[in-house]
Amino acid sequence: VGKRRRVFELFVLTIALIVGGFLVSGTGSESAESGGRTVIRNASMVVTMDPALGTLENADVLIEGDRIAAVCAGIQAGRAKVVDGRGKIVMPGFVDVHTHLWQSLIRGCGTDKELNGWLGGCVFPLFGSPINGQDAYAGVRLSTLDAISSGVTTVTDWSHAFNPGFARGNVQALNDSRMRYVFAYYRGPDDNEIRTVKRTMIDPNPLGHLQIGGRAAMVAVEELRGAERLSRELGVALNVHLHESKADPATGQMESLRVAGALRPGLLANHAIHMTDAELDELAAHDVRVAHNPLSNMRLASGIAKLPDMKARTIKVGLGLDGGTNDTSDMFNNLRAAVGLQRALSTDPARYPTPADALRLATLGGAEVLGLDKEIGSLTPGKKADLQVIDTHQLNFAPRVDWASQLVFNTQPTNVQWVFVNGVALKKDGRVVGDIDRTIAEAQVAADKISGILPS
Ligand SMILES: [Zn+2]
Repeated sequence: VGKRRRVFELFVLTIALIVGGFLVSGTGSESAESGGRTVIRNASMVVTMDPALGTLENADVLIEGDRIAAVCAGIQAGRAKVVDGRGKIVMPGFVDVHTHLWQSLIRGCGTDKELNGWLGGCVFPLFGSPINGQDAYAGVRLSTLDAISSGVTTVTDWSHAFNPGFARGNVQALNDSRMRYVFAYYRGPDDNEIRTVKRTMIDPNPLGHLQIGGRAAMVAVEELRGAERLSRELGVALNVHLHESKADPATGQMESLRVAGALRPGLLANHAIHMTDAELDELAAHDVRVAHNPLSNMRLASGIAKLPDMKARTIKVGLGLDGGTNDTSDMFNNLRAAVGLQRALSTDPARYPTPADALRLATLGGAEVLGLDKEIGSLTPGKKADLQVIDTHQLNFAPRVDWASQLVFNTQPTNVQWVFVNGVALKKDGRVVGDIDRTIAEAQVAADKISGILPS
């Protein structure tokens, strides 16, 4: 009798496993979320950013697992989940090469201040304050959902890492976001903590990368030497702010980078606005990368980076949202600002970057800045499936005249219908995947706490 009951139990268990497996794999939307096979069918335009493929009309994009499997017309996709691409533009996800995600908690702070006034009023008082990992998590959670909504698939998050708990909450929110990320950890007194966070929180996530955040200034050159030493030890890039405000060059930022031996391939320099020709030559000679943050530069009255001069020197440049200093994660706004600033400065409508150049800066250009261009930045079969689907059939975008230009001049985050990172849909049918009300409520709690710490 015992044996017969056991056979019956095995039978029931087998049926349950079959039914359960069917339920898990049977619904199309679930397979899109878990990174199965998805085909974007009959996309009206596919902007691949791959020079060999160019821009295609009426084509399919097949995603298999975490990769782009094919980009062409009439793909045989079997039982893949189908996203209707008619009236849609498919393009790579944006690569944000410089931001501070926690700073959604200080949106609207110090809007009448330049860089140093803003830092003094909105950021520096938080060092040594009770700001903690829960606060970091709340701000970064909100920022990542907002960035995904705007078509951003990779973020480079320069974290002030006010204390170790803050940094860990920051990284946890990045891991939970399911975005691709580079975490630039501002180096405090404890290198072992950074090594531990890398080993236990970042390395286990295939989407996670580390950089060392440093401070370039002659008064802090020993600290910069330490950051450079740690970045070499860990085999990651150093990430610094450079000549952002008019007052920065006099602090010896370039000299400190020379003295610390930090001018070398992969160094990421944020802003690089107030640069002489000789200094730009020096960046180019050492293959230093630049993050251009036009919205932030406008907000803080910082100045206008010399993008055409950087282009002439083939310096690798990408676009950054720069956290609290532009108050938004709207990357399309950043594209317009990148184009518009150079035109307004030069009174030349053909000035670099053109709208097409700006799209490249925000995608493949950003991937090159981060050294990730073999994996992301273009819709090249074999690369990771980080992409966005844009709906043109809306009042702010239609009618069709010149979509390549309209992409830059008309798109808003509300046009972004689908966002895939590593083959996983993080925005579906116009809705970001996540609990938005709860995220906003928790960010408000953290923002209120910070308001109580900052000088009024
Ligand atoms: Zn910054």
